[in-house]
Amino acid sequence: MADVWTIAEVSGGVLKEISLELLGRARTLADTLGVRLASVALTSHLNEDQVERLAASGADVIYLGQDSTLEPFTVSAHASALMALVAEHSPQIILAGATTYGRTLLPYLAVKLSCGLTADCTDLAIEEGSGNLLQIRPAIGGNIMATIKSPNHRPQMATIRPRSTPLPSLDYSRTCTVCHVPITAAVHNPTHVLGLRPFVGQQRSIEDAEIVVAGGKGLKKRDNFALVEDLASLLGAEVGASRDAVDRGWATYPHQVGLSGKTISPELYIAIGISGAIQHLAGIKTAKRIVAINNDRDANIMAIADYAIIGDLFAIVPLLAKRLQERRKTQ
Ligand SMILES: Cc1cc2nc3c(=O)[nH]c(=O)nc-3n(C[C@H](O)[C@H](O)[C@H](O)COP(=O)(O)OP(=O)(O)OC[C@H]3O[C@@H](n4cnc5c(N)ncnc54)[C@H](O)[C@@H]3O)c2cc1C
Repeated sequence: MADVWTIAEVSGGVLKEISLELLGRARTLADTLGVRLASVALTSHLNEDQVERLAASGADVIYLGQDSTLEPFTVSAHASALMALVAEHSPQIILAGATTYGRTLLPYLAVKLSCGLTADCTDLAIEEGSGNLLQIRPAIGGNIMATIKSPNHRPQMATIRPRSTPLPSLDYSRTCTVCHVPITAAVHNPTHVLGLRPFVGQQRSIEDAEIVVAGGKGLKKRDNFALVEDLASLLGAEVGASRDAVDRGWATYPHQVGLSGKTISPELYIAIGISGAIQHLAGIKTAKRIVAINNDRDANIMAIADYAIIGDLFAIVPLLAKRLQERRKTQ
């Protein structure tokens, strides 16, 4: 039976975490189908230890295409290389991250291959009996979870939300076949990138932050949101917000955490005046440590918090900030 493929993302010879998250998710699918799991990496170069990381994260096969024309990324070059690979090996499933890379590459590929594509999935499963891929994602503004399948066309393709699954544990004893993919003249990139410079004003995304301090409606008004921003700045953290805080204009949409916002997995998540509605919790399922500050001991967030601080945020947050400032001075 045909294999399951995931598309790795590489920058400067190093894998982005989404490459491993995809393998973690797809391993279960491949095992259920009883087929091999492959990772496809198209890049100018991939460091040797990174190839081993792909194998240790669950890949049985690595298709490695290394050529200077593949970096910086252009959709035509990557799609050409992928189409040649798909024509040769006919995978039944292709998964990529719902990142700028995956969201650019997979729709292009889907059109070229006349296949379906489900964007931004939060879960995947294999349908019993048919073996079809069930592609699960929020729909209609997050009000329902839709299950989508593509029974008539192969490969079945989906992009997966980054951070919607934990990283797989590494097993360096696994065996894996590395296939070096020739990047032929036929797939050469017709685009010449003359130069790259960072987008002015670009901010680090909360998806990549180690610490996120988030505020909700409990802050009462916009001016009070400064308590969240100040604490975040003291901790070197990014600012997050509940949808109610975003709807009130206290923070902008890229800071929204939850089902209709961002899925994040920081080492530390501090929720201030956030009740922990199910849609909010959907965005922090993979956060490592959660601290909640709330005056309602029965708020949902308190039940899942590692540290639940019960009390008035207007007393607790300034105290916390003062302690951090004092600690800084003595360090
Ligand atoms: C389709 C759909 C999608 C959604 N997507 C999202 C999403 O992506 N993200 C999201 O966050 N929500 C989302 N929501 C909204 C969600 O259902 C909640 O309405 C929202 O998360 C509530 O925001 P909140 O916790 O800030 O406000 P509230 O639920 O009002 O909670 C405020 C909290 O502050 C506490 N508080 C009040 N005063 C103080 C004080 N002085 N000190 C300490 N604590 C205090 C209260 O006890 C309370 O727990 C979605 C809803 C729908 C229907």
